[in-house]
Amino acid sequence: MQDWEKRLQFDKEHIWHPYTSMVNPLPTRLVKRANGVRIELASGEQLIDGMSSWWSSIHGYNHPVINNALLEQSKSMSHVMFGGLSHEPAISLVEKLLDMSPAHFTKVFLADSGSVSVEVAIKMAMQYWYAQGKANKNRLMTIRGGYHGDTAACMSVCDPVTGMHEMFTAILPQQIFAPRPVCRFDDDFSEKDISEFRQLIEANHKELAAVILEPIVQGAGGMYFYSPGYLKAVRNLCNEFDVLLIADEIATGFGRSGKLFACEYADVKADIMCVGKALTGGYMTLAATLTTDEIANTISGDGSGALMHGPTFMGNPLACACANASLQLLFSNNWQTQVTGIEGILKETLFPCKELEHVEDVRVLGAIGVVELKQAVNMEKIQQAFVKQGVWIRPFGKLVYIMPPYIISEEDLRRLCLAMRTVLQDSRQLF
Ligand code: PMP
Repeated sequence: MQDWEKRLQFDKEHIWHPYTSMVNPLPTRLVKRANGVRIELASGEQLIDGMSSWWSSIHGYNHPVINNALLEQSKSMSHVMFGGLSHEPAISLVEKLLDMSPAHFTKVFLADSGSVSVEVAIKMAMQYWYAQGKANKNRLMTIRGGYHGDTAACMSVCDPVTGMHEMFTAILPQQIFAPRPVCRFDDDFSEKDISEFRQLIEANHKELAAVILEPIVQGAGGMYFYSPGYLKAVRNLCNEFDVLLIADEIATGFGRSGKLFACEYADVKADIMCVGKALTGGYMTLAATLTTDEIANTISGDGSGALMHGPTFMGNPLACACANASLQLLFSNNWQTQVTGIEGILKETLFPCKELEHVEDVRVLGAIGVVELKQAVNMEKIQQAFVKQGVWIRPFGKLVYIMPPYIISEEDLRRLCLAMRTVLQDSRQLF
């Protein structure tokens, strides 16, 4: 057994990975280094990254600009508590976030992960109504097929079936679920597409603090793209029934869907917006919850006036420094050209998979390419096949999808897509 194999053995015996069993875990691979769009395994294999480490590493790994920002920041201050203290990296970051996001957002809470930013968004919504003497407006409504994180309030609004959270129902607040939008991204939206949603919000609005959803692109709950017309109709219904709208842009934010924020597709202004993942270019864990003067002032006008959240690592300076560098790169690299270029190649290379017998659907939006199969894949088999082809793609269930780093070259992207097609053509490698 080689040294790295012994390390993996230790890993297998002692370390929990995302959504895995400690008794019968799926194989895990040891990474030696990652550079640009390449992940190098301890075994020596080089893999082209199709996942951007779950939407986050948009500028690739080991980027000199972000490396430098991290290093420089570590020389002056790696961390200070955010209670009673502030610092330049956080101030610059919030300036940038407010500059790039819709003008009605004026207040920002820096959270330490996507899930936490969603928890904060939910608290903001509840405190907003509480401060107005409407404490009974404390439930949430959402659409099926969503994913918002793994902490308790987040789980309560994840899809009840694909969300894998059934066993926690006893401790989760019971929320209101509308069906997943049937009108897809390119479909014409008609009023009947929103009729069930309308009935539900009409029946429950007195108890509802907010509607929470992933705008346009539902990620981990099904990699599904729905019509901007639907999102617009949701916004209108929220206005009509006095319910806040929380846009979870944690996966879609910073250009991934082809717009800087996916709400732009529908020209919709959310009341609260969560961002995370690509915020630091995948370097550090950081997220943010943005809201309006109206919501912040209403919360602050009540009793103690405080928003009740304050994690230890809130506004961590290293993470903020990475985010500042990553956001600068986003614009200096011209993200729109990068994402449009990726979208064109994804369409050209993945749409032919529609012809394959076991493929149900292929969809592409921005720098996201999804092949939905008719049945769930065998994870161990397919992962092995992808590694053999020199690519890192991690499917779930029936969904084989990629969202590569924005900096990927055309040549690497074509290799990635070709590898995906090659594996998908051979059902023995899938099931
Ligand atoms: N919301 C969405 C839309 C997400 O995709 C995710 C992460 N997959 C989260 C929330 C949770 O973020 P985190 O994993 O950073 O807690």
